[in-house]
Amino acid sequence: MNVLSLFAYLIASVLFIVGLKLMSSPDTARRGNLLGALGMLVAIVTTLTDQAIIDFTFVIIGLIVGGSIGAFLALRVQMTDMPQMVGLLNGFGGGASTLVAYAEYMRIAEGTAIGTVDGLVALVLSLLIGTVTFTGSMIAFAKLQGIMKSAPILYAFQKQINALILLAILVLGALFLIDTSQWYYLLAIIGLSAILGITSVIPIGGADMPVVISLLNSYSGMAAAATGFVLSNNVLIISGTLVGASGIILTNIMCKAMNRSLANVLFAGVGADYTAAATTETEQRTVIRYTPDDAAFMMQNAQSVIIVPGYGLAVAQAQHVLQEMVNILNQKGIQVRYAIHPVAGRMPGHMNVLLAEANAPYDILLEMDQINDDFQNTDVALVVGANDVVNPAARTKKDSPLYGMPILNVDYARTVMVLKRSLNPGFAGEDNELFYDKKTMMIFGDAKATITKLVQLMKQ
Ligand code: NAP
Repeated sequence: MNVLSLFAYLIASVLFIVGLKLMSSPDTARRGNLLGALGMLVAIVTTLTDQAIIDFTFVIIGLIVGGSIGAFLALRVQMTDMPQMVGLLNGFGGGASTLVAYAEYMRIAEGTAIGTVDGLVALVLSLLIGTVTFTGSMIAFAKLQGIMKSAPILYAFQKQINALILLAILVLGALFLIDTSQWYYLLAIIGLSAILGITSVIPIGGADMPVVISLLNSYSGMAAAATGFVLSNNVLIISGTLVGASGIILTNIMCKAMNRSLANVLFAGVGADYTAAATTETEQRTVIRYTPDDAAFMMQNAQSVIIVPGYGLAVAQAQHVLQEMVNILNQKGIQVRYAIHPVAGRMPGHMNVLLAEANAPYDILLEMDQINDDFQNTDVALVVGANDVVNPAARTKKDSPLYGMPILNVDYARTVMVLKRSLNPGFAGEDNELFYDKKTMMIFGDAKATITKLVQLMKQ
């Protein structure tokens, strides 16, 4: 590799790191994304031009076919289907690492590349992690897309069997390192890793898939970094490590926000799947049903309003009309802010993305820690399609799956308004005391229809 290419790789790596840094705040995130994409362009162009003899036919076919499928899917995917789309992309990343690592082995076997010991260890790891990521991600995708039942699939000695498969892979890896001419060891490693990917994701409920997807994202980065060692390619090592590290940080943030350990997510077989949660029977208690007229009146007479968005906002696609309502309230001199819970919605940053789409100003999007103490001095807490993230059971009900999860303190506000369609529980399947609270106004209906009505009333 020539000096110019090494320098270009260095620039690409710096662009990745600065891009990631900028992504940590909503107002710089777009620029961060652009810098990251620019870094990737530099890395791709450098890789393609670094080798003197390269047949571009397959590269161009790959770019056109892969690029078109990617663009088609990205344009068509609904916001609510984003987690499985990300899952699919991670899987392809892992699969690509496996293919590249095996192709490099073929070059080593032919004698056109040199296999060092550390390179060969990395090769085995790349096949293992890449293939586990591929099949694991396909299962995560199938569960979220409803192709497969999302409830955990459990059987006897599950963890022990998985541990045995992993052990077998490691033994095969060691045998391969002793005699690298035995290619079938590698095929066996790929086969067993494919099984391990499946068997380690099927016991996890659909509800926990976003965490699994974030973990698999981290794996896909580690597989890429291992492949970087196989190819002695610095930019692949650096970018893979960045993906690996950021994926694991995100996984950790999600687990903390749900007050669960990663081990609990991976091994406890927690099974509240989406549909089961939606059909859980609720107690026969009465709530007071309010109308949009009541809500419009209360809000226009408030001084401060905090809006808590949740998964229902994404389902209703009510973000644009919601922001329109915020603008009207602002014009009337009412302070309005959004309170964002770290696991509101179905993927990290879900609410931020939705609200950014509706051009909500970033300075009124506040994280839970920044705004939670302000509810007690707020006139109206408006809950739009959120449920678990405002459920007081998380504070008091020891046997609840939500127990211990930090929640947004909406019940400390003077009045609480909840926009949802029914009394059905949220994702965790837990009934919500908040709906029965004396100061809670339940306004039933699709969030978009209700807010559209509120906007009409406020304009009058
Ligand atoms: P949630 O607890 O799932 O509740 C969403 C509510 O939205 C439902 O109760 C539903 O009630 C309502 N809804 C659905 N469609 C609606 C519509 N068209 N109009 C109005 N309301 C509608 O949501 P959340 O409070 O955002 O909590 C997120 C949950 O997902 C947490 O349990 C979290 O742990 C979990 N989770 C999140 C992530 C993440 O990364 N964000 C990852 C994994 C798990 P109705 O059916 O009565 O309308």
